[in-house]
Amino acid sequence: MNSSTATIRNFIAGELVEPAARRYFDNVDPAIGRPYGLVPDSGEADLEMAVQAAKQAFPAWRGTSAEQRAVMLSRLADLVEQRLEDFARAECIDTGKPLELCRNLDIPRSVANLRAFAAAAVAFSGQTFGKEKSQSYTLRQPIGVVATISPWNLPLLLFTWKMAPALAAGNCVIAKPSEVTPMTAYMLSQLLGEAGFPKGVVSVLHGKGPTIGAAITNHPDIAAISFTGGTATGTAIYTSAARHLKKVSLELGGKNPTLIFEDADWPAAVEGATTAAFANQGQVCLCGSRILVQASIYDKFKADFIRRTQQIRIGDPLDKATQHGALVSEPHTNKVLGAIELAKSEGGAILTGGTRRMLEGRCKEGYFVEPTVIENIAPSCRTNQEEIFGPVATLLPFETEEEALQIANGTQYGLAASIWTQSEPRARRVAAGLESGVVWVNCWNLRDLDTPFGGMKKSGVGREGKWRAMEFFTEEKTVSTPR
Ligand code: NDP
Repeated sequence: MNSSTATIRNFIAGELVEPAARRYFDNVDPAIGRPYGLVPDSGEADLEMAVQAAKQAFPAWRGTSAEQRAVMLSRLADLVEQRLEDFARAECIDTGKPLELCRNLDIPRSVANLRAFAAAAVAFSGQTFGKEKSQSYTLRQPIGVVATISPWNLPLLLFTWKMAPALAAGNCVIAKPSEVTPMTAYMLSQLLGEAGFPKGVVSVLHGKGPTIGAAITNHPDIAAISFTGGTATGTAIYTSAARHLKKVSLELGGKNPTLIFEDADWPAAVEGATTAAFANQGQVCLCGSRILVQASIYDKFKADFIRRTQQIRIGDPLDKATQHGALVSEPHTNKVLGAIELAKSEGGAILTGGTRRMLEGRCKEGYFVEPTVIENIAPSCRTNQEEIFGPVATLLPFETEEEALQIANGTQYGLAASIWTQSEPRARRVAAGLESGVVWVNCWNLRDLDTPFGGMKKSGVGREGKWRAMEFFTEEKTVSTPR
């Protein structure tokens, strides 16, 4: 396996190959603001090769047993785990996120994804039905050639979260990682043969969303697409997939509320709100970027939250002590800084942060933005309506539970929310009233991979999670016999 090679290759028909047009673009290390490698700029010719390889591989692959597929996924998990440090360093360099986060969360969770779907492959089954005159059962069968398109914020984690169920269910997969964070998908592609996956069962195509991504969503022989990314891209994919009636799963953006009630446990609520707002530099779809605080404790919360935010250690992502690394790219950094300027123009008061942080030494040209807290912005302003996807949180006071729900539900999104209260009845009432696919009570991002996961409203279509993903990646067939 080669993690240091600067030039990434596509993986098609079991081989690492150059893009057909021999075109590449730069891969930038966001912590130093300089290119360190090349990424294939793949196009339709590359996709066609991958689709043909997948179609050839599918008849034999669909004939494998669930147990055989589980063994391969488990072996792949073991191979990644054995190289955990290599994967963690590569993820850190590609994304700018702290190495400690990659070591302790991103890569172990990627391994857990592969193992969860190895187990699901074997346990997943159809249903039986019995009536007076008929006996019926359902078969869950693979769809055929499917595609996965994943974003840059949790590159290997989301890449495996989609690829693993598609394979567990017996499909051939064409996977496209984000153009800005391709390295760990490339490293994984180098392990697929050793794990036992036959040629053509998985292809990994690198390149740009509007070219190779759009070509994937338009290809008539790709029957299903599992996508995680922004709402605008998801809408474009949904539209183009509709022309071919492809199955589509969309995990999209969020503008998630954190609700702090006056009876919240202290300091757990402050700690939880801080983690929810700034984890991975605020670049998690689940981040709690709108913090709703009951008016009676607003000033106390504000003081403690600012103090806690200022304690977050910004630094070189490779440094073990760093808690807050670089943002993923220069364009994204400019977008986040632009959102802070917009907040100011909307009357927002910057309580802490608000600027780009220039570091010394190796990272002096890196894309670092300070954790930023803003207040005094109406819920309806763009700052409180649009996803920023960076280290920017707003504080919003509320008086009553009803008002809290009104503000929390008052955006186009509905992905995740967290509630901080010691009252169980209140937690249940508020959880039931939130327009949100996921609700955490007195915690944030506590994930059980077996549970359904996904968003309401413009945050997505469908659900992922162990059983829901297996359902998505299979066709259900009903077989009936007379009694
Ligand atoms: P994008 O929507 O820009 O990109 C996501 C993926 O889609 C990338 O691989 C991208 O390729 C590709 N893509 C871009 N344009 C097209 C197109 N026209 N056709 C097909 N594919 C395309 O999102 P980001 O990568 O910027 O990720 C951030 C977004 O992801 C945020 O909105 C965040 O909320 C959301 N997200 C949602 C999650 C959820 O579970 N709900 C989890 C994590 C993130 P390329 O990189 O080459 O442009």
